Amino acid sequence: MSYRAPVSEIRFLFDHVVGFDQVSATERFSDATPETVNAVLSEAGKLCEEVLSPLQRAGDLHPARLENGIVRTSPGFADGFRAIAEGGWIAIAADPEHGGMGLPMAMATAVNDMMSAACLSIQLAPLMTQGQIEALEHHASDAIKELYLPKLISGEWMGTMNLTEPQAGSDVGALITKAEPKGDGTYAITGQKIYISWGDNDFTENVCHLVLARLPDAVPGTKGISLFLVPKRIPNEQGVPGVANGLKVVSLEHKMGLHGSPTAVMQYDGATGWLVGAEHDGMRAMFTMMNNARLGVGVQGIGVAEGAYQHALAYAEGRKQGRTENNSITDHADVRRMLATMKADTFAARAIALANAVAIDMETATGHADWAARAALLTPITKAFGTETGIDVAELGVQVHGGMGFVEETGAAQYSRDVRVTAIYEGTNGIQSMDLVGRKLMDGGEAAYRLLDEMEADAEAARADLPDLAEPVWQACETLRETTEWMVTKGAQDRFAGSVPYLRGFARVLGAHFHLKAARADRAGKHERLAAFYIHRLLPEHVGLLTHARQGADDLYALSMDDLAA
Ligand SMILES: Cc1cc2nc3c(=O)[nH]c(=O)nc-3n(C[C@H](O)[C@H](O)[C@H](O)COP(=O)(O)OP(=O)(O)OC[C@H]3O[C@@H](n4cnc5c(N)ncnc54)[C@H](O)[C@@H]3O)c2cc1C
Repeated sequence: MSYRAPVSEIRFLFDHVVGFDQVSATERFSDATPETVNAVLSEAGKLCEEVLSPLQRAGDLHPARLENGIVRTSPGFADGFRAIAEGGWIAIAADPEHGGMGLPMAMATAVNDMMSAACLSIQLAPLMTQGQIEALEHHASDAIKELYLPKLISGEWMGTMNLTEPQAGSDVGALITKAEPKGDGTYAITGQKIYISWGDNDFTENVCHLVLARLPDAVPGTKGISLFLVPKRIPNEQGVPGVANGLKVVSLEHKMGLHGSPTAVMQYDGATGWLVGAEHDGMRAMFTMMNNARLGVGVQGIGVAEGAYQHALAYAEGRKQGRTENNSITDHADVRRMLATMKADTFAARAIALANAVAIDMETATGHADWAARAALLTPITKAFGTETGIDVAELGVQVHGGMGFVEETGAAQYSRDVRVTAIYEGTNGIQSMDLVGRKLMDGGEAAYRLLDEMEADAEAARADLPDLAEPVWQACETLRETTEWMVTKGAQDRFAGSVPYLRGFARVLGAHFHLKAARADRAGKHERLAAFYIHRLLPEHVGLLTHARQGADDLYALSMDDLAA
C-alpha cells in the first residue's frame, strides 16, 4: 500500500488546534500565508508519496554497506536525497541569507513528519543536516557560515553530529576525543566516535561533521567540551572540496532496522577542525543542534506511526475473517480498538509536536521568554511521546496484520524495526524524562503551570457544549497539576524515580487537551468522535501513570541488586 501524505489533517491541526495563526500573524513569518502553507504541504506531500515512499523497502532489503572504505548507499537513495535537496526541503526553516526558505519551524516539522513516514532511513540525512545548519547559524563565525551554510542548505554537502564514544553515551561529559590547537586557528582532532548516523555517503561532494572534543586544558565533564566542524574534504575559500581530511569510516553497524541509514564508527586521526562557538562552550552550541534533533526525532516517531497506521488500515479493509457485515476484520471490536488507538494517539502526538514547533516559532518571532520556556518544556515530551507513539502504533500495526504482520513481505514489521531506535538515540527517553522533571521544572514549575492554566481554561470553556468530554479533561489537568506540585517539591532522586510515568502522563493529558480542541472545531464530525474515543478510553491511563510518578525512590532502591538477580 502506498503512503498518502496527511495534508488536510495537518492543515486542520494548524487551523484549529495548535494556534498556527499566531505564527503567521507575526512580521517575521508573515510569508506563511494559508496559500503558502497549502502549496508547501502539497508539494512536499507529493515528493513523499511519489519519490521517497518507494525507497522504504529498498533501504531495508539493500542496506548501506562499506566497500574498501567507501560507504555505498541503498539503491535510489542518491536520487531521493537529490530530490529532497532540489525541492528545498532541507532548509525550509533556514535563514534566507544563505539560501534557506525562512519559513516557520511548524512547517518544517510537518514536512519532516511526512518524509519520515515515507522513508525514515533517508529522512535522517536531511534531519542531521538541518540540525547542523541551525547550530552553525547560531554559533559559527561569519567565515564558516559563508563557506558552509550555502552548501549544506543546497544539499551539495551533508551534515552529521558526533557526540557518542564507546565510554560516553548518555554521559556525554565522559568523552575523550582530543582537540589540539595547531597554531593557525585550526585544531587537530583525534579520537573515535561511534554510531554516527550518515557518517558518510556516496552522493554528496562533502560530509561535514560537528564533533565534540576536549582541548588540552579542558576541565573534566561537560564544561570542558568544545565543538568543531570537521569536513571530510577540506574546502578552499570558494567552497570547492580539496584534500581528504584525516578521518575515515572504520565500520558500519549491523542494526535491527533503519538499514538504509549508514551508522558509522568514525576514526579521527589529527583531522583538521574549526572551532564553532567559544572554547569549552561546545555543549551550548551542540544543544542548539540537539534540541532541533529532539523535536525532529519525536516527529520521526509520529511519521512512522502515520505510515504504519495507513498500512494496517489498508490491510484490515481487505482482510476477510469471520462473519462480519462489511466482510472485513474492521468490523471486529478489537480491530476497531486497535485502529482507533493508532489514529487517536498519532493525532495527539502530532498536535504536541506541532504545538512545540509553534512555540519555537513564536520565540523566534517575538523573543519572548515565555515562548522559549514553553518550547523547552515541550521538547522532551515531544521526543519521548512521539517516539513511543511510533513504537506502539507500529507494534499495533503488526498485530492488525495477524500472521502477515510477522512476515516481512507485508512491510508492517519494518515500521516496527525501523522506529525502535528513535526511543534510544538523541538522548534515550529515560534521559528526556529526567530533563523534564530536572531542568524543565527548575523554574518552580512555572512554565508547566502556565500551560496547565491554558488547558484548564479551555476545558472550562468547553463544559457548556461538550460536558462529557470537557469534565474528564479538566479533572485530568488537576491531577497533573497536583503531580507537578509534588515533583517540584521533591529531591532529584524521587523525581527521577517517577520521571518516565510523569512524562507519559503529561503527554496523555496534553493529548486530551488537543483532542478536545479538535472536537470543538468539528462538532459532530470525525474529530469529535475520535476525541471521545481518546478521552474516554486512552486518557484514563494518566491516573495510573501519575500515581506511579508520585511513589518516590525509596521502594525502588529497597529492592537490592540481589533481589533483582536472575
Ligand atoms: C542507529 C543509531 C544512530 C545513532 N546516531 C547517532 C549520531 O548520529 N550521533 C551520535 O553522537 N550518536 C548517535 N547514536 C548514539 C545514541 O545517541 C546513543 O546510543 C544514546 O545516547 C544512548 O547511549 P548508549 O548507547 O551509550 O547507552 P547508555 O548511555 O549506556 O544507556 C543504557 C541505558 O541506561 C540508561 N541510562 C544511562 N545513563 C542514565 C542516567 N544518568 N540516568 C538514568 N538512566 C540512564 C539509558 O536511558 C539506557 O536505558 C546513535 C545510536 C544508534 C543506535
